[in-house]
Amino acid sequence: MHKISDECIACGACADSCPVGAISEGDPIYVISDECTDCGACVDTCPVSAIAEA
Ligand code: SF4
Ligand code: SF4
Repeated sequence: MHKISDECIACGACADSCPVGAISEGDPIYVISDECTDCGACVDTCPVSAIAEA
């Protein structure tokens, strides 16, 4: 599973990068669901490096 940390500034850049639609807007930060396949595509799209494998 990949996780989004509290560093998230809710810019939304990562959501479109996920091939399985596992990233959605939460409150107050974006969240990754159990659908995550650990492909890693979203990691480099985050401007504040808030996404990591956990
Ligand atoms: Fe989506 Fe891949 Fe990121 Fe998981 S690692 S949230 S499947 S883009
Ligand atoms: Fe949050 Fe990074 Fe996704 Fe932007 S790209 S919504 S800062 S996790």
